[in-house]
Parts: sequence; structure tokens; C-alpha cells
Amino acid sequence: MKVFKFGGASVKNAEAVRNTASIIQSFSSEKLVVVVSAMGKTTNALERVASAILRKQDVLAELKPLIEYHAEILRQLFPSQHPVFAQVEKIFASIQELAKQEMLEDQLYDQVVSVGELVSTIILTEYLNTLNLHAIWLDARAYVFTDATYREGKVDWIKTKAAIASLTIQGSSLFITQGFIGRSPEGFTTTLGREGSDFTAAIFASCLGAESVTIWKDVPGVMNADPKRLPAAVVFEELPFKEAAEMTYYGASVIHPKTIKPLANAGIPLLVKNFDDPSLPGTRIHECKVEELQPLIVFKDNQCLISCKVTDYTFIDEEQLSVIFKALSELDIKINLMQNSAISFSFCVDFRESKILKLIEKLQHHFEVYYNTGLTLITVKNYDEKAFDHFRKQQGVILEQSSRSTLQVLVRN
Ligand code: ASP
Ligand code: MG
Repeated sequence: MKVFKFGGASVKNAEAVRNTASIIQSFSSEKLVVVVSAMGKTTNALERVASAILRKQDVLAELKPLIEYHAEILRQLFPSQHPVFAQVEKIFASIQELAKQEMLEDQLYDQVVSVGELVSTIILTEYLNTLNLHAIWLDARAYVFTDATYREGKVDWIKTKAAIASLTIQGSSLFITQGFIGRSPEGFTTTLGREGSDFTAAIFASCLGAESVTIWKDVPGVMNADPKRLPAAVVFEELPFKEAAEMTYYGASVIHPKTIKPLANAGIPLLVKNFDDPSLPGTRIHECKVEELQPLIVFKDNQCLISCKVTDYTFIDEEQLSVIFKALSELDIKINLMQNSAISFSFCVDFRESKILKLIEKLQHHFEVYYNTGLTLITVKNYDEKAFDHFRKQQGVILEQSSRSTLQVLVRN
């Protein structure tokens, strides 16, 4: 059995759905579980719908363009009397029902945004069936069980594994299911965190003991840098799990950070392939040793550098550091880079404004706090001499750090 994952771009319009279907069709001799994201930018639009519900604003005004976007795709894929029109309509109507219920913010968010995946998988399944591919639609919420941490559901692996294992004994060979969503112990829909569909694919694959996972993307594979920023970027033929996991840690967005661990633990290779040209080799992430890896460059924008200064001529010590770390952990903020000196401790974090302002307020009770925003953190992993010099010597570097394998510079844009 193989697991495929198709992201939003691979189902963003009727043509993309047809292309995705033709890729699936070319694997019709295999047993496949296909995990699909919401179409195009649907999740962003549904976030706006959720916020309109919460703010008691005009929900329909946010929802209408989204309904029309899906209806247009349907009209291009199906004859007008096809039952899929009514199915999709019903799901969108359920959002307006949610507006009448009392629910906590994050819980409501998950009930609303999960609709994107429900709709996209229904459309793809029905379309595959017009091609006689006998696709079976699975409700991922009957397989992926989480706790009740809405927006960041933590997987209950024991329950999930038992449910997914039952799939292998069913006769069918093509299952279509939703990425990103699961079920809480109370029976509500949860989500696994933005861009979480890759993780869903890894969950299914590890619980099934799949042969491989393939993530189909609009890039030719995993590249050593974002080609929009460095046009000379190259595709890795293969990457060890460890390198791939670390690159997601430093902010490479090609694969969701939670994806690698379950696959590496189960020894299941992860392939990243191009949906526009499936004949390209793509990248194979697996247990391997690559002698000389190209330097890997990750740009992380929207960084904020915070410095906590001691004001009374005492030095930064463990007690003060523990105050800082406690504040960070209470607000669930992750440090991307840190450095200390005699009287100050500086660290770089993603600039999520409201959270960061709360953090600064907490820290101001103990320190003089300075901060800088609009920074980019550049990580160069497995650097060579040329890359090392180039990135250190560029303009605007305000902080740098290096180990024997990794250079990080924080740059003012
Ligand atoms: N549709 C969700 C998102 O946009 C999940 C995913 O695409 O992986 O975050
Ligand atoms: Mg997506």
C-alpha cells in the first residue's frame, strides 16, 4: 500500500483536479490511500468565515465567494444533475448552522475550517468515480483521533492505529481522505495545525506500514533553497531523514515539521514529486548516507529579535534565564536563535504580534527590553567556504552564530 498527499495547489481548479485524477489513475494497479487538502486558498478563506462568526459579522458575505469558487469547479467537472452539487451545498450550509451554536473560539475554528477538506475530498472522489476508478471516500475523523487541543490536536496514537489498521482488511484499493483533520474525545472535529495534511499522510502511512508516502507538489522536489530567492537552487535526489527533519525545523516549508518523525521511526520513505511532471525523479527522503550534500539555505522571514538587559549591574544568570524561559513557555513561543552576554540575553522568535507584545510586557517586569522586527533569519546547513563567506558578509547582519555544520545570520531587510 502507498500513501499519496495532494496539497491545495493540486486541486485549486478543475484543470488541477483533472491532473490529480490522472496521476491517481496512472497508479490504478496499486493499493492507494490518498490524502487531500482543501482547494487552493480555501483554508485562509474559511479562517475569515470563522472570524466573522465569532465577531458576529456578516458570515454569508465571507462564505459566498467560497461557495461560488467551488460551484464553478463543480460545473466544469460534472453534468448539472450530478448529486455532488447537493452534497457540497449541504456541507457549506452546515457552517451557517454552526453560527447558531455556542462554542469556544478554537473549537468553532476547527468545525469551520475543516469544511475545506471535506468538500475537496468529496469532489475528488466523485470525479474519480466518473472515471470508473471506484474511489472510496473516508471520513478521516473516524481514523485520526486527537485530544481536545483545538487548532493543534495531539494525536492519540493507540486509538488512531487501531482504527487505521482496520483499513487493510477492506477489499477496496483506492481510498480518498482528508488531510489536516481529526476527532476529539468529545466527538468534535479537530485540526492538526496549519499545513497539517502532510502529517496526516504520515499518520496513515505509519499506521498502515505503507511502502512509501508521496507528497505531490508544484516544485520539482526538495530544493537546497527557495528558487524564488536563489534561482540557482538545485533539487536533492535523496536526503537522509535527519537532514529533512532539521530543515523543517529551521523553517523550510516544503514539508510539515511533524511529518518526518513517524515515517523515520517506521522506516517508510517519503518521496516529494512534481504534479505537473510526474516523470521527474523528485526527492527521496529515507535512511541513507549522502557523502556531500549541497549547502541547504533556509530563509525565515518576519523575525523579531528581543533583548533583555539587566539594569542593576548584576550579570545574566540562571535565575534570570529561567524567568525568560518560563515566560516563553507559558506563551508557547519557540526560540529560533539565542545569544547571551554579561548583561543581556537576546533571542529571535517569529513575530506574531499579539503574542510577542504579551511576552514583552511580562519581561518588562524584570528587564529592560528592546526589540527589532522585520528581520530575516537565514540558516545555512552543511555550509561550504563560499556559502559561509557569502552569507556572513552580506549587508545588514545584526547577529550571527555558527557551528561546524550550520551558520545562522539574522539580517535586517
Ligand atoms: N488546508 C490546510 C491548510 O491550508 C491543511 C493543508 O493544506 O495541509 O493549512
Ligand atoms: Mg495547503
